[in-house]
Amino acid sequence: MSFLELKDVSKSYGTGAAEVQALCAVNLSVAQGSLVAIMGPSGSGKSTLLTIAGSLEEPTTGEVLIDGRALSSMSRNDKARLRRRTVGYVFQDFNLLAGLTAVENVALPLELDGVASRHATRTAGALLADLGLGGRGGHYPDELSGGERQRVAIARAIVGDRSLLLADEPSGALDSLNGEAVMRLILRACRSGVTAVVVTHDAQLASWADRVVFIRDGRIVDQTVPPPTPESLLEDLPARGR
Ligand code: ADP
Repeated sequence: MSFLELKDVSKSYGTGAAEVQALCAVNLSVAQGSLVAIMGPSGSGKSTLLTIAGSLEEPTTGEVLIDGRALSSMSRNDKARLRRRTVGYVFQDFNLLAGLTAVENVALPLELDGVASRHATRTAGALLADLGLGGRGGHYPDELSGGERQRVAIARAIVGDRSLLLADEPSGALDSLNGEAVMRLILRACRSGVTAVVVTHDAQLASWADRVVFIRDGRIVDQTVPPPTPESLLEDLPARGR
């Protein structure tokens, strides 16, 4: 079942001669628990696609559905709740708050959502430990390496059972080893049910995804489909034929 669906999504900025068509009739369906990588040249609409998928911006035309619910049918409050509870964002430059420790950064979204501080801290600490960062919880971002910071940012994006992870060049500022560690973490989150869309320039990292979508001038131009597995071939057979 698709967790994220973009139906005929177009987005233009500006008007008249200054109008830019950032996305043009994009259709994208991302199954729950799968990892989709988006690749394309600079200015092709990758970030716009992510911000629209995460309800940070509205499409000019078309529809976005998250977990079967059309964003256009939601009230402002519903969308704010969706952004607080369901969607997690990761950016290239980490965006951790410098005055908070790793644990406090990860606990923050829970606290903003009304979870008691002690419980939020415990949940954040457990998640960091689970992600192999147990010993780093009390450190401030400037005491962490770039790779560690990005892993903390991923923890912050998935804490509290959020189910849609949108990452814009999460490995863009990292060396290949740390980039791989970040991708491995995202893949692990997917295997536990998180749905992820990751923009990357790195074909090697993109190859870890279940599907790679190529975008150019605001249009999806190509998609790789994973090779069939014995299970998926059986799923296509009528039940009586098995
Ligand atoms: P990418 O992430 O692939 O580099 P973007 O989604 O950032 O591409 O941008 C796609 C196009 O939309 C570009 O031409 C960009 O200049 C334009 N664009 C993006 N955001 C805005 C904005 N807020 N206002 C005007 N134009 C924008």
